[in-house]
Amino acid sequence: MTDCIFCKIVEGQIPTEFVYEDDKIVIFKDIRPKAEVHLLIVAREHIPSLAEATQDNASLLAHMTLVLPKIAKEQGLNSGFRTVINTGKGGGQEIDHIHFHLLGGGMLPKF
Ligand code: 5GP
Ligand code: ZN
Repeated sequence: MTDCIFCKIVEGQIPTEFVYEDDKIVIFKDIRPKAEVHLLIVAREHIPSLAEATQDNASLLAHMTLVLPKIAKEQGLNSGFRTVINTGKGGGQEIDHIHFHLLGGGMLPKF
C-alpha cells in the first residue's frame, strides 16, 4: 500500500530500527511512547485492521500473540505487560495496518 506508513516501515522506505523481525512481522518502538516500554508488533502483510482479518490470517495472528511474552521478557518486563489492539476509528486506530501495542514498565494504570 503506497500511502501506508507501516508498509513503508516494513519495506525499509522509512528507516526504523527493528527490535525484532522475521518473515511475518516486524517490531519497533512507538514514536510516541505511552509507557516506559512501548513497542508495535506489525504484520508484514497489509491487513487494514483486526476487523478485516480472516481465518486465512489465523497463523499470523497466533504468531503476533505468541511472540509477545518472548519480547516482553527480552525487554525486562518481568512483572507483566499490556497488549492493545485498536480497531477502527471508534477503537482509536490511527494507522490502518494491523498491529499490536506492547506496553509495560513500572506499574501501568488500571485499565
Ligand atoms: P493506533 O492508534 O493505530 O493503534 O497506533 C498507531 C501508533 O503508531 C501510535 O501509537 C503512533 O504513536 C505510532 N506511530 C505513528 N507513526 C509512526 C511512525 O512513523 N513511527 C513509529 N515508530 N511509530 C509511529
Ligand atoms: Zn500497510
